[in-house]
Amino acid sequence: MVDGKVCNALTSTRSTQKCFICGATSKDFNRIDEMINRAITTENLEFGLSVLHGWIRMFECLLHLAYKLPIKKWQARGNDKEIVLENKTRIQKEFRKRCGLIVDQPKPGFGNSNDGNTARRFFKDAELSAEITKIDIELIKKIHIIMIVVSSGHAIDVEKFRQFAHDTARYFVEHYPWYNMPPTLHKYFIHGPAIISSALLPIEHYSRKCSRDKTNEDVFNAFFLSSDPVITSKRKLPKKKLQHLPKEAVDLLKLELDQIQSHIDDTNDESDEEVILSSSDDDDDTY
Ligand SMILES: [Zn+2]
Repeated sequence: MVDGKVCNALTSTRSTQKCFICGATSKDFNRIDEMINRAITTENLEFGLSVLHGWIRMFECLLHLAYKLPIKKWQARGNDKEIVLENKTRIQKEFRKRCGLIVDQPKPGFGNSNDGNTARRFFKDAELSAEITKIDIELIKKIHIIMIVVSSGHAIDVEKFRQFAHDTARYFVEHYPWYNMPPTLHKYFIHGPAIISSALLPIEHYSRKCSRDKTNEDVFNAFFLSSDPVITSKRKLPKKKLQHLPKEAVDLLKLELDQIQSHIDDTNDESDEEVILSSSDDDDDTY
């Protein structure tokens, strides 16, 4: 996938804590109004948003924030380190015991157990995730809506999305001012709307996660494709059925009137439960 590191390398942005779109660094990200009004390098918007990367990074941000909730400090020093580690262990155990979810465990070979499916399950069961992590449930739900919208494959109402994304950024900072917003959240909340509206390059699945070779191949293909808007426009995300999306997500989409009517009909026919699509080998299919 084209993650922050790849984009930073390509745009000569040295620190991974630096935003390759506006040049701000992690110490600036929490000043939301300043970030919204900051000048951007428009050409770099074309790298788009990697949806799978987004799901995983959003999830990991909330996990790492949760570990530090007992100390409410960005950096754990001295005794605090032990407190954070204990809380991390508790959270991991509870996820495993209560829903069989293995979070943040090293995987043999490389990386860790956090993948797109883990992230989706975390957001899907916001009540349980909030109970275990003690993170504000509204924040989990808001971020979930953002990810559902960008993964939906439907045209997004950029103005409504901007409002929602900026509100979510402010909500994050109001609740957790001591936690520096990570670059991926900054990118989605602050630049997401501009990326979407500039999108010759629609929000993409850049890569399969099955192997490194495949990933590299996909990254190469993504850059090849992004140099050609005509080819790129053929690689849109498959559209999720509207009746499978929560209302708050549908509200942020640009829909034709007949789609809205059929959504209302479908919603009336079914229970309020959000329907989960079955998982396939591409783990970016459910939410
Ligand atoms: Zn930025």
